[in-house]
Amino acid sequence: MLNKLKKISLSNWILIGMILGILVGFILNFWVTDPFIKNIILMDNVFYFGGTGFIRLMKMLVVPLVFCSIIVGVSSISDIRKIGSIGGTTVLLYLLTTALAVSIALLIAGIIKPGVGLHMASLIEQSNVTVNQTMTDTLLNMIPENPINSLASGDMLPVIIFGVLIGIILAKLKNETQTFNKLFSEGNTIMMEMTSIVMKFAPIGVFCLMARTFAGLGVDGLLPLSKYILCVLIGLAIQGFIVYPTLLVIFTRLNPLKFFRKFTSVMFFAFSSSTSNATIPLNLEKLSELGVSRDVSSFTIPLGATINMDGTAIMQGCAVMFAAQAYGIDLTTSALLTVVFTAVMASIGTAGVPSVGLITLTMVFNSIGLPVDAIGIIMGIDHILDMFRTAVNVTGDAICTIIVSFRSKSIDLDVFNGEKEIEKTEIEYFD
Ligand code: ASP
Repeated sequence: MLNKLKKISLSNWILIGMILGILVGFILNFWVTDPFIKNIILMDNVFYFGGTGFIRLMKMLVVPLVFCSIIVGVSSISDIRKIGSIGGTTVLLYLLTTALAVSIALLIAGIIKPGVGLHMASLIEQSNVTVNQTMTDTLLNMIPENPINSLASGDMLPVIIFGVLIGIILAKLKNETQTFNKLFSEGNTIMMEMTSIVMKFAPIGVFCLMARTFAGLGVDGLLPLSKYILCVLIGLAIQGFIVYPTLLVIFTRLNPLKFFRKFTSVMFFAFSSSTSNATIPLNLEKLSELGVSRDVSSFTIPLGATINMDGTAIMQGCAVMFAAQAYGIDLTTSALLTVVFTAVMASIGTAGVPSVGLITLTMVFNSIGLPVDAIGIIMGIDHILDMFRTAVNVTGDAICTIIVSFRSKSIDLDVFNGEKEIEKTEIEYFD
């Protein structure tokens, strides 16, 4: 029996943790009435500790792992033009997939019409989400004024830029900077090992996160918004299971089923945690198992966690249509194009953390003069959608990374196709 349990892979354990968590959550929600056991012991202590503790462990890994692995990855690509071309193609793909995602959402919400016939006044809750950042500010914030500050506060874009610059310089000065080369390379090895250790707790963390969410989930708020929820879920399903596999086939001719077989645990983790940022370490690990070189993924995945949020863009497209329909506002073609543009821009420069999409949604609403109060209506049910869209966000990052690494010949196709196991070797960068 114990031997059989030992044979279950970590990915399957994560799935088991998730399903058990959902079940336990539902049981607590509908059948356990004792508030002491349900709320005080389980939800506020046991599950809270297990879930939040695990997310904190994952977050602990992000900055040092991303920083070291970007430096090591970039410094190992000695041709600076290759870095430029990988960076350029990645950013372009990220922007295109996001634009496609919003367009799909606008189309679906145009057909299903989730906002028609809603009584706005009875639904509006006070919304206090606002964001005043302009596009120029977003671009400026990418330049680290004080890199130590950016590292300390986990600001991904400045950390990426600083890491890329150090990587390029290390590649250039190779012989003069042996100590630093070795320091970052060994730092990277340490962080990869720490990731493997932390990941062993993933099934328990995921179980606690799911149990807590589903034990506290109210169904009352869901009903009047069921059409809106349906629109978002259909949009996410199209993006995740039609658009991405199609892109993978068109650009690489690789088999999407092979991708999903290994990648689902990352989606489950993103679903449970609602944060692309905390999913970075697991995403990197799974892409390595799919044969993608860390030289590429160490740069594209953290970048994607920040600037590529296709799932979030789908929610935003649906939310715009929902609010416009509910208020009886007709959106012109130019307003729709503005939505596509602003939703793409809104996804740049915000970290992949829970519910951030709701905050940047104010930017999108403001761009076409929709009343931001409408955001208050969907706020109550956003957590559940956040889970689904985060799973799509991380899948988008991985698919674009595979396409980019295929084009730059940085993927081992035998490993992807399951014909060869990935070797757990240390990467030597300066032999
Ligand atoms: N939670 C999402 C993420 O981390 C962002 C959002 O849509 O709120 O990717």
